[in-house]
Amino acid sequence: MEWNWKEYNKDKTLFRSYYCLECKQNKPCGVLGTRDYCCACYFQIEQERAEEYPSYEMAYQRKVKEHRARYKQLEFLKSYSGCSHCGSLAVDAYELYENNRLVCQPCLAKKTGGSSSPISFSERSKWYRKYWGINLIEWLEDYGCLPVNTNCAREWLKDKGHLRNCQCLELEAQKLTEMFSNSLKEYQEKLKECACEKSEKVRVGSDY
Ligand SMILES: [Zn+2]
Ligand SMILES: [Zn+2]
Ligand SMILES: [Zn+2]
Ligand SMILES: [Zn+2]
Repeated sequence: MEWNWKEYNKDKTLFRSYYCLECKQNKPCGVLGTRDYCCACYFQIEQERAEEYPSYEMAYQRKVKEHRARYKQLEFLKSYSGCSHCGSLAVDAYELYENNRLVCQPCLAKKTGGSSSPISFSERSKWYRKYWGINLIEWLEDYGCLPVNTNCAREWLKDKGHLRNCQCLELEAQKLTEMFSNSLKEYQEKLKECACEKSEKVRVGSDY
């Protein structure tokens, strides 16, 4: 039997726009700001996301880790002497950020027909100079660290002593924990207005 892809895709799209992507049972009312998930499922997804930042302490640990990783990636990128094949200094951003690998972006694009955006150390240096007003080489070589964010960089430019008593990572972690607990509270309030429609039909994977 010939499989009708056109019909299949049409069904899938119709189905998707109608039923919750998670439980495939309810028709989302959109009160929580999404038509992809019903309110109950969306709330649960958000709750799980918030659980990744259950406390200030964990959010802080995570921020520290991310901050260190960013620093290491920039240092790694700085050490890159270019592609031995084409000579380009641009690497694939995804490979660097996700896999900690320096992969020539032009060569990857040529080979696979697709890649993420190219980044290079000189391009990054320009970015940091333009948006944070800092000299990246100076930070990597002399300070062995990076400002936490734009604000941190600004503080440091005003007062070189900022680095010694910088609390910017602590602040970021605090904001993050508050943001999650606040949005959950907000959603809980909104849930009272939920008008998601429950569908009686038991939907299984093959309906999809
Ligand atoms: Zn649902
Ligand atoms: Zn190359
Ligand atoms: Zn700071
Ligand atoms: Zn709802």
